[in-house]
Amino acid sequence: MTSLKLTNSLTKKKELFTPINSKEITMYACGPTVYDNPHVGNARTLVVFDTLFRVLKKIFQNVNYVRNITDVDDKIIEASKKKNKSIQKITEEVTKVFHENCKSLNCLQPSREPKATEHIKEMIKMTTSLISKKFAYVSEGHVYFAVTSFKEYGKLSNKNLEELKAGSRIEVSKLKKNPMDFVLWKPSSDEDPGWDSPWGRGRPGWHLECSVMSEKYLGKNFDIHGGGLDLIFPHHENEIAQSCCNNATQKFSNYWVHNGFVTINKEKMSKSLGNIVTISDAVKKYSGQVVRLALMSAHYSQPLDWNEKLLLEQKSTIEKWYQLYEDSDEELETEVIESLLEDLNTPGFIAKIHELYNVAKKGDEKSKKKFNSACRFIGLFNQSKDEWDKLKRSDSKISEEFILNKINERLNAKNNGNYKLADQIRDELLKKDVVIEDQKDKTVWKFK
Ligand code: AMP
Ligand code: ZN
Repeated sequence: MTSLKLTNSLTKKKELFTPINSKEITMYACGPTVYDNPHVGNARTLVVFDTLFRVLKKIFQNVNYVRNITDVDDKIIEASKKKNKSIQKITEEVTKVFHENCKSLNCLQPSREPKATEHIKEMIKMTTSLISKKFAYVSEGHVYFAVTSFKEYGKLSNKNLEELKAGSRIEVSKLKKNPMDFVLWKPSSDEDPGWDSPWGRGRPGWHLECSVMSEKYLGKNFDIHGGGLDLIFPHHENEIAQSCCNNATQKFSNYWVHNGFVTINKEKMSKSLGNIVTISDAVKKYSGQVVRLALMSAHYSQPLDWNEKLLLEQKSTIEKWYQLYEDSDEELETEVIESLLEDLNTPGFIAKIHELYNVAKKGDEKSKKKFNSACRFIGLFNQSKDEWDKLKRSDSKISEEFILNKINERLNAKNNGNYKLADQIRDELLKKDVVIEDQKDKTVWKFK
């Protein structure tokens, strides 16, 4: 039996993954809040859990992977006011871009992609239940979860209530019994999105949707829950509190997996810092495969600094690998993905692909097949060689006009006996993948 190891944020240990039911693996990853176009930081979470999904599918075949869409949130309301666009328009547009991004990064479709607004009834039901069990209380149209009612509060972030209070920017409110209490339901003004509830017209707090949707689609106790590091507290801590209290159990997700941040100059890439690169822009500039490979170039638990050098390195790797592209896709032996089984060690797996490439380049047909399958397994080579070449061409920053001007300049240089300049121009074009060839009475060009 193939064994997979994962670092469980709950125990802070690398553990052997033992599924609840090996016939159906259950995994939930927190998806985007659709208020603005996703950035490369969000893409890392997408690619990390897509990779884990691929590995789980390889070992267990049947994997139920749920990734939600948060389409009701204060950030969305703010964006709607700022942009003077309806909430529906914003969430639809951003969801569309998000799906295009997933496609360009070659992320597999999750088994389900539930939206928060389609689960309001269930959220009201869970809130009602938490109130009746005395884990939550009503305060002027708000419903709060009482954190002191859950003894294990802080077990995921490994902090007690006092430490958490000291370390977080909490919303001070006289409506709360404890400053750390978090909102399950809050009132909405007439112009804000709202639903009728026993506590008046309002909307759910963010954490509630993931407790509700994970239970609905995966059950009360499921295998893996994932997201970025920033979600450990308060989001995931609060999900645990809601679900464990409501279901009178200590079990919610058995394994918690969190990916490190994408950083720019060592700072977390985030909208609030204004240092984001959108997935769409990165894909346009470098292609989806290059962005995907860059996101896999560091171990998921480590930070990943986003910079031009990293991207150019990945680009030249992909270009090199395409030299051995072929249209075969064979079942990979588990031995090839060994590094991925070891806590999803993507840098180790990339090193393995390089190894296979080196052997295949010497003419070993078997390694060439393995090399191609390994690339596909990790979500690369989703474009044929032709498509990749075409993409490179359209991607090219130089126009035909530029090339023809350069050829003319070179001709002048040659006519003036300045062969050094003529050679420099030839090299300059070559660096841009343009090859020129002098024929009898003209110079022709083509892309490399
Ligand atoms: P959001 O749309 O902000 O709710 O984020 C969606 C997912 O992206 C969450 O799992 C976040 O933890 C993750 N995320 C946000 N920013 C970054 C970042 N800079 N690096 C890695 N993951 C991030
Ligand atoms: Zn969530």
